[in-house]
Amino acid sequence: MFHCPVPIGREMNVICRIILAALASLLVLIQANGSSYASDGLAALTFQVAGDELRTRVVINFDSEPDISTMLLEHPHRLVVDLPKTVFAFDRKSVEPHGLVDDVRYGMLDAERARLIFSLKGPFSVERIDVIKNDSSPGYRLVADLVASSDRQFAEDLKTQNATTSSTESTSKGDRIAGATPDQTSNAPKPFTVVIDPGHGGIDSGAESASGIMEKNVTLMFAQQLREELAKIPGLRIEMTRNDDTFLRLTERVRIARQYEADLFISLHADTINRGNIRGATVYTVSDKASDAESRAMADRENRADAVAGIAFDNETPEIADILMDLTRRETHNFSLSFAKSVVSSLKKDVNMINNPHRFAGFQVLRAPDVPSVLVEIGYLSNAEDEKLMLDPAWRTHVATRLATAVAEFSSLKTAGALN
Ligand SMILES: [Zn+2]
Repeated sequence: MFHCPVPIGREMNVICRIILAALASLLVLIQANGSSYASDGLAALTFQVAGDELRTRVVINFDSEPDISTMLLEHPHRLVVDLPKTVFAFDRKSVEPHGLVDDVRYGMLDAERARLIFSLKGPFSVERIDVIKNDSSPGYRLVADLVASSDRQFAEDLKTQNATTSSTESTSKGDRIAGATPDQTSNAPKPFTVVIDPGHGGIDSGAESASGIMEKNVTLMFAQQLREELAKIPGLRIEMTRNDDTFLRLTERVRIARQYEADLFISLHADTINRGNIRGATVYTVSDKASDAESRAMADRENRADAVAGIAFDNETPEIADILMDLTRRETHNFSLSFAKSVVSSLKKDVNMINNPHRFAGFQVLRAPDVPSVLVEIGYLSNAEDEKLMLDPAWRTHVATRLATAVAEFSSLKTAGALN
């Protein structure tokens, strides 16, 4: 979020923050020729954004208490914050796309009203938006926590808003949401949804074989084959996190799974492993404790995918506070384990697998609390025989068929409620 220009402790950081906020206020006053903002509207002094594609916090500091109203817009997914007359005095450079926030616009609507518009990467919900009086510095801050949600949830939120805002005076001047929301929230049962995640992509090419074959291409080829096989199963909805050579952050992959309310998330990989004699398919599920040293090393490397692409790790991501999350996670985890079991029993019939083919480690990409997730290494690019197989379309088709069988089995058990 905020970083003081010198490396200092937490308390000093706070003091530094206060001094900077005071300087910003002073600057605003100077720019305004000494006139007071009490009579000339609000001043927005600083803008901060932190978090990732799953959870983003925006904090805006004001010189006095802002009276806000908000609304949601779609196409693209947007959050509008209406303010009284406001001078936007924060540094333009602090308003950068970050986490869920793709774009921020702000300015005066007319002589009396100002507006901030946040465009987001996908459906979201406003978990919290508060105006809080600062304790240690003058003024107030607006704190908004935006959380990635599903298409269905967003459509519902829009619907609720449209039903309640039609009588609200704050939207009386023609800025009401245009048109009604198409009815995406009909009560038809949601199809069993599988999100296929071809590992790596774009600037992050993943592992590379001795002959120069790149993991990102192997995973995409296999993912496309798997999609074809899954399409043969009636009643399935299949989505991909990427269908070309683009880079995606790990949290963006998880966000996409949640956007579609996936019943199953399958991340596909073809890594290298230090010992060239290790080969065969492996199915990983998430765990804080790794099953073995190799799995731990594998997860560590996968988790560095964002860093490989030059994206700094944001360690100020707001914590998930929901205690219900733990319960969801436990149920989700059981589903992940049972799918992993199905995959192993389907593949081991005639696909070469590693010893102990179900392993676990702390993969970030498998951490959606509500989406059963597995990571499948279809083989290892460090092994010449595996490499040869993975480049063979007939082999890929065969393995994809076996995986699809496991998906069919899992989806029928889960739909029948036979997995709890
Ligand atoms: Zn990989």
